[in-house]
Amino acid sequence: MPFLKWMKMRKNKDLSSFFPLAKITEPFSLYVHIPFCVRKCPYCAFYSMVPQGDLLREYPDVLEREICWWMESLGQDLPEIQTLFLGGGTPSLLPPDQWERLIELLERYFRFQETCEVSVEANPGSLSLEHLRIWKEWRVNRISLGIQSLAEDEISLLQRPYSKEEAFRALEAVKETGLLLSTDLMFAFPGHTLRKWYHTLREMTDHFEPDHISCYQLVIEPGTPWGSLSPSSLPDGYPFYRFTQWYLQRKGYEQYEISSFARNRHFCRHNIAYWKQGNVLGLGPSAWGYLSGVRYQDHPDMEEYVNSLTENRSPIKYTESVEGMEKARETAILALRTKWGFDRSSFITQFGEQSLKDILNDLAEIPSDLIHISPEGVSLTCKGMRVGNAIWEKIV
Ligand code: SF4
Repeated sequence: MPFLKWMKMRKNKDLSSFFPLAKITEPFSLYVHIPFCVRKCPYCAFYSMVPQGDLLREYPDVLEREICWWMESLGQDLPEIQTLFLGGGTPSLLPPDQWERLIELLERYFRFQETCEVSVEANPGSLSLEHLRIWKEWRVNRISLGIQSLAEDEISLLQRPYSKEEAFRALEAVKETGLLLSTDLMFAFPGHTLRKWYHTLREMTDHFEPDHISCYQLVIEPGTPWGSLSPSSLPDGYPFYRFTQWYLQRKGYEQYEISSFARNRHFCRHNIAYWKQGNVLGLGPSAWGYLSGVRYQDHPDMEEYVNSLTENRSPIKYTESVEGMEKARETAILALRTKWGFDRSSFITQFGEQSLKDILNDLAEIPSDLIHISPEGVSLTCKGMRVGNAIWEKIV
């Protein structure tokens, strides 16, 4: 069962039963959701909306209310931020003057480590040179461009709101800033072929040499316009994924997570914080956070989110506390997404010897070319990453 689906099946509790949370003492991560898009892509199940009226202008004020709500609820001076990710939606849809307001308020309420990793997501089409100037002059050090494909017919099939030319211009503009460039690419959508995938991967790596590439297989999500597509209308993703692993490694990229490849060890530290279950404060409608062992999600609905904050109520829709063996299993699954896997001795320290034995027992029948089990730790092999879902199912 996919990990997110498994999480969604868990029970919901009121966050008030978790307050006060244990004090956050170590540097933490911050995620800010900017839930606006020019239009909805037909496969997308993320919460985002086409902004109406003054919403873009008012959004920094709404976020400020949530920050104040958290400050009051947590009742502590927060330590420094080690990673900040401003994602969406399409953060580049927020106009430059509203970015200046957002930056001003983040600086006013939070303290940043000198080495803080600050990432912003952007889409070609809405990204301007003014955005890039503001981000570079502030703290941003990584820009993640949602590209998906470099073929004009595929961009239009996926109904992405930009042209190939705009995608090229955006990639070139980010390269010129000297900031780290990350791109998202998609494979195995209707009509996609290995040859076409090869062209996008080759063009991307040869022309732009991104520091980081995330590759995702199209997933049919119920409730989206493409939700009624029959799985048989999609090509098998396995050969695409296998080719991606082979090709990107040849081009100097290291696969450090199921979907993530980096050159020169430019791993995304923010995502690593999720996989290692670090503290993440998530802000904005539908944003996920994880604080002191409690996972939560803000209302995935702008109206409910704004109303709750206006009435000084909790903006949180969903919470869960994962403990004991359930937490041990979740920790193992998240760690096995990465090439580092998990370390036996720290696992035992955190969950006890019996928990490790139980997990190893679950994994006992997995062939050794898929999983590497050593006296030090456990990790998936390159081949194992191709069938990660089937391996996690054994642990769940
Ligand atoms: S741009 Fe991204 S977040 Fe917005 S609808 Fe498309 S896939 Fe979803």
